[in-house]
Amino acid sequence: MITAIPSLLLLAGLSQCLPTSCQSQQCLSTAASILGSIDTRTDPCQDFYQFSCGAWSKIHEIPDNQLEIGAFEALSRGNSESLRKMLENGYNDLKLQNASNGVPGNQVHTDEKIFNKAKNYYESCHNEPLIESRGSTPLHPLLETLGNIFEENREDVRAAVTKGIAYLIQFGTTPLFTFAAHSEMSHPETYGVYVLQSGLTLATKERYNDSSVLEAYEKAASETWHKISGNVQLPGVNSENDMYHAVERAVDFEKQLSLISNSSQELSNPVTIYNPVTVTKLNEMAPMIDWDLLISLLRQNEHPIDSLVVTSPSYIQQMSTLIAETDIMTIQYHFMNTLILSVVGALSSDLSTPLKNMTLHVSGGKVLPSRQELCIQNTNMVLGQIVGRFYVLTKFSQAAKDSMDIMVNSLRKSLEQSIMQLEFFDDVTRTVALDKLHKIVQKIGYGTSSPDVMSPASLDAYYQSVTAMPELFFENYISYRQWSARKTWKLHGQKVDKQVWQLHPYQVNAYYNPLANEIVFPAGILQPPFYNVLNSENLNFGGIGAVIGHELTHGFDTSGRLFDGDGKIRSWWTKETERKYLERAQCFIDQYSNFTINGPGNTSLHLKGDFESGEILADNGGLQISYNAWQNSLKDSKRTGIKYQNLETIGGYTAEQLFFIGFGQVWCSKVRPEYTAMRMINDPHPPPQWRVNGAIQNSIEFAKAFNCPTGTSMNPEKKCRVW
Ligand SMILES: [Zn+2]
Repeated sequence: MITAIPSLLLLAGLSQCLPTSCQSQQCLSTAASILGSIDTRTDPCQDFYQFSCGAWSKIHEIPDNQLEIGAFEALSRGNSESLRKMLENGYNDLKLQNASNGVPGNQVHTDEKIFNKAKNYYESCHNEPLIESRGSTPLHPLLETLGNIFEENREDVRAAVTKGIAYLIQFGTTPLFTFAAHSEMSHPETYGVYVLQSGLTLATKERYNDSSVLEAYEKAASETWHKISGNVQLPGVNSENDMYHAVERAVDFEKQLSLISNSSQELSNPVTIYNPVTVTKLNEMAPMIDWDLLISLLRQNEHPIDSLVVTSPSYIQQMSTLIAETDIMTIQYHFMNTLILSVVGALSSDLSTPLKNMTLHVSGGKVLPSRQELCIQNTNMVLGQIVGRFYVLTKFSQAAKDSMDIMVNSLRKSLEQSIMQLEFFDDVTRTVALDKLHKIVQKIGYGTSSPDVMSPASLDAYYQSVTAMPELFFENYISYRQWSARKTWKLHGQKVDKQVWQLHPYQVNAYYNPLANEIVFPAGILQPPFYNVLNSENLNFGGIGAVIGHELTHGFDTSGRLFDGDGKIRSWWTKETERKYLERAQCFIDQYSNFTINGPGNTSLHLKGDFESGEILADNGGLQISYNAWQNSLKDSKRTGIKYQNLETIGGYTAEQLFFIGFGQVWCSKVRPEYTAMRMINDPHPPPQWRVNGAIQNSIEFAKAFNCPTGTSMNPEKKCRVW
């Protein structure tokens, strides 16, 4: 049982700031949601996640068309839903929340134009009768050109592969490897081109080890090829039998690629993936690709290309060997298969369904999402900054942006205090760490340059080459993929644009980018239950505060710490401090490696502490830093004599307890076990219950707030801590 005992801190110092009771409409509704989720029969000291979310869990089931359900997912779904309604209603029905954020007088026409671009794109996706009637026709010219490339270079595998890759990469289809533009790790002021392994339709190498998955995949690919070959003669396929044989060879080739691919864990260390290689050396490493020709076919500007960054050298080498050992028809079939499956989602349902069903089955899903859902997701991805603009105008006020700025600053202050006080930091390391912290750039809500989400003209120019023709969904989608692929090569050699956002404004997510030393919080996550300007501070600090702290401490996690304040990869830790830091990080790795989660068929899966170490450190650091920031805020109100507003107690829980309950309930969720198992392969985030119970077990403040005896599950004697 929990009794309403005000914490010692409140009794000791805040006589002017005693909790007010929960009377406002906002507080009553928040209280109902909090209390309705708590499982009062569970002892919070035994299983805090179950305590915080047990009742929620009882009343929430995963809908058949979803793989999970929870706060993140619900907010994300809600954001999509409001965008869908907005696009279906039209420009004149927009209800702008803040007119001053709206449209400059001379841009009203452009504003309506970009809105209609998103609307037309969405409607082109939603025009099912037309999409069905076109069948596989839109894909035929692409397959024909690819077939011709191989036909014309039948005697020269190297030329065929190189030209084939150059052709497909223009559509964002990547049969062997792909390119991306990021800051060059040792010269972060300039963009470099990175070469990344690719070519696996099933996304991760581990899935190719499961024979049932591989079988289902081959079946889905065969069905798709079969449907297409009913409409057109596929290059290199003369009979039904030929076709099945072609798919078998393509899938087998992919299996070979999976064997030489690196795992997500192997690719998680920035030091080992940073391999700048000259083009001459690349030709030696992977001689079956004509790198000079490939670059000349793809480049979009005149900047000299001396070197590329190869993230998996062993893969690139072995891929070249594999090509040399494989007959050209198999390679052609693999290229065709990758092309078909990468764009099949934009074709008629008889073509797109086999692969979707296979993916659904592997991830434990029951039914496919509706066409409406798919179309809004696709529109959001393709024209994300445009729909993001209208999301911001209707859902995110300047006041919310301003108060988030204040909150982020309080988290920065808290981390600064922690760095100042860390006993295991020596002064040299401490000075550079503080410099890095002070240089972290914070971006909140939406981008104001490259493109400027508040400027219709900027968005219009940004998406100029993405088409939204009402009757040509496939072509529209391809134009987006082309636009996206060209961006990479346009950036090469250019000065890094620090205003760029890697997320769209409506997205429920946040990130720390070590190469730019920036933290980014889109408007999409700055919403209840993470953040509500009307809620009391303890709940906001437990929610969005812990998220901000999470992103800030990423700058100093196992990989973030390898970059300095300018985003340059370099070792700035003294040996002794580094040793002590790694010792502390290891404590978390060992602790989390003992945690388990339910997998498919009642299996028990162990967390991979090593792979997840960055996220684990950020979860723990985030909670601690946010708690401290909230305490600072309380002290400030005492010092200034301003009555601390809005510090309600709810359901007899203390303000401290509510801070932790707010933190726990952000993670209330249910995930299909198959989906959990799938995510654990390449997602470095611990599953939701351990994002709560893991961090809670290491929090002395939690144990105090809930009076948990030492030795209980949530208050073990041995605690891990960095910050
Ligand atoms: Zn993270």
